[in-house]
Parts: sequence; C-alpha cells; structure tokens
Amino acid sequence: MENNLEPALYIVSTPIGNLEDITLRAIRVLQNCDIIACEDTRHSGLLLQKLNIPHKSLISYYDYNESEKSVEIIKMISEGKSVCLISDAGTPLISDPGYKLVNEAITNNIKVVPIPGVSALITALSASGLSVHNFTFVGFAPQKKGRKTFLTNICMLETTIILYESCHRIEKLLAEFYEIFGDERKICIARELTKFYEEFLRGTVSELREIISKRKGLKGELVVIIDAKKN
Ligand code: SAM
Repeated sequence: MENNLEPALYIVSTPIGNLEDITLRAIRVLQNCDIIACEDTRHSGLLLQKLNIPHKSLISYYDYNESEKSVEIIKMISEGKSVCLISDAGTPLISDPGYKLVNEAITNNIKVVPIPGVSALITALSASGLSVHNFTFVGFAPQKKGRKTFLTNICMLETTIILYESCHRIEKLLAEFYEIFGDERKICIARELTKFYEEFLRGTVSELREIISKRKGLKGELVVIIDAKKN
C-alpha cells in the first residue's frame, strides 16, 4: 500500500462511539499525513492514542477560528503538506466545522479527498425502520429564535426527516411535535449509537413522551427521525 500521501486536504471520518468503526484507510491516512486539523486537540489526541496512531502535529480548527485557520491550512497544503481534517466524532462538516476550509481548498485548486466512514444520521436511519427512500437531514433545530417556524416547516416535508437534538431538549422537542402533528406520525429516537447503551425508541409522540417521563429523561447522544408526512 502506498504510504506517501500527496499534498491534499483529506476529510477523514472517525467513529461516533465504537472505536472499531474507524476504517483501515482512515488509519493509514491519519498515520501518514503531515498535519491533523481537529476541533479539540486534547480530545483528538486521546482518540489517536487509543487507535495506536502516533501523531505529532495536531492543530485546532473550530467554528470561531475557521476563517483564519483555513488560510493557514491552505498555505500549508500549497507548500506540499498533506492535511487531514477530523471532527470530535463522525464525518467532518456534518453539523461540524469544515465547510469554509473545503470551499477555500476548492477555490485554491487544492485537491479535497473524502475518507468516508460513520455518520450518526445514516447509522440511525439504517436501523430506524422508517422509510429510507427519500429523506431530509436538517442538523440541529435553532435553540431559540426561529425554532417554531423551523420545526413547523420541516414537518411539512413529505420525506423522512432526520435531526440532531440534545438529550436536555428532547422532551421539549416532543411537546413541540405534538403541537404540530399530534400523534399522527411514527418517530424513532436513536440513542448512544454504536456504544454500550445503544437503543432505538420507536413510537408516536405520546408513546415516546410516556417512556421518557417514566425514565425521568433520556441521557446521551440522540438522533431523532420522523416518518414522512402523508398527503
Ligand atoms: N459529525 C457528526 C456526524 O457525522 O454524525 C455529528 C456531530 S454533531 C456536533 C453531534 C450530534 O450528532 C449529537 O448531538 C447527536 O445528535 C449526534 N450523534 C453523534 N454521535 C452520536 C451517537 N453515538 N449516537 C446518537 N447520536 C449521535
């Protein structure tokens, strides 16, 4: 296998919980690149250590320094370095930083190489039992301004809808869905995917609210999937 990486921006997916979900190609690319740009150098340093990937050069790249760091990273690649972008979990750019960097690279005629792997949305959808033929991923709903309009609009879509939500807001989200479409649609909450407590809660809004209230809330990371609106 060729170990010398050509200068490029590599968008590398990492696991969302279970470390076995890293790909062989991701390991090789992370091992052989010159620099790894990540959201949190401490978090990614630990991940690389657990994966037995010795790495020397980690730099931070996050929402608030995206513009400045993108210029720096593009310069490094232009000078012949291979740079990997990883996020704290899953596929970079998917509700994570990186959009600006990829666009800067394209503008500067720099090669962008995706190294595919896990993303919570596809992992959740594949086992949800809801229709996968036509779906819309909307990321996180706004927390305050525009939230109601956003939720009302996505519920009008005639596709399966996938969103990310914090466990602290799940009861609020279900109450909001009840206001919008009552008990008409099936929902799947995928919790702690690929981890020890992985589970799928399936039911109508009322059924899920009852389960969650009996448990006095839900912990961990969640993906929420809503069945398509029937016309
Ligand atoms: N880039 C990631 C991806 O490819 O899925 C998503 C990053 S986003 C900042 C984090 C959100 O993804 C969490 O709040 C949760 O909604 C979802 N998520 C990430 N890991 C998960 C897991 N193991 N189980 C369920 N949801 C998860």
